[in-house]
Amino acid sequence: MNRNQVLPQVQLLAEPSALKKVDFCAPQTYLGTGFLSITDLPRLTEEASGVLKGDGFHWIIQTHFEDSPGSEPLQTMDLGLKGRIHLICQRCSQDCAVDLDEKRRFLLLATEQDADDYPVEDEEREALVASQHFNLLETIEDEILLSLPLIPKHPEGVCEPHASSFGGDAEEGLSEKPENPFNILKNMKKN
Ligand SMILES: [Zn+2]
Repeated sequence: MNRNQVLPQVQLLAEPSALKKVDFCAPQTYLGTGFLSITDLPRLTEEASGVLKGDGFHWIIQTHFEDSPGSEPLQTMDLGLKGRIHLICQRCSQDCAVDLDEKRRFLLLATEQDADDYPVEDEEREALVASQHFNLLETIEDEILLSLPLIPKHPEGVCEPHASSFGGDAEEGLSEKPENPFNILKNMKKN
């Protein structure tokens, strides 16, 4: 029997406060969609060069239980993000619109240990720890932050020419291969 057909599907509420406490231990699946403005997300607000009309992110979330032979069904969560934020262009130091259109899949595992043991190399799915008061707002914000370009820039030729302060050498220095941003985030959370 397909477990998803048996479990009730619950509508996720779109209010930021409701997204901070989602029960992922309950025997139910979730479906929801909404829009978050930049100011709903404090770490994103810090990154933004300014907030223009329409800036923010549409999100869509759906969870389901995947049959897993020999063990409990695995709870997975699909997250879609689409929207815009303004950052400082690293070439001309002016506001620069950054558009994101991302899809992510997560596994909601039972314990911290399970999540730590989960291979980071899995590029299709990221492990999270399920809880009764899961902060989904934080997860959405994490994923937006991880999706932002490390060096935001206008497309070639769009920059304000007079404001261009640094040339090719400086840019090459900045674009050295960065550390995996997911690891950086993981370490930040532990501290
Ligand atoms: Zn620029």
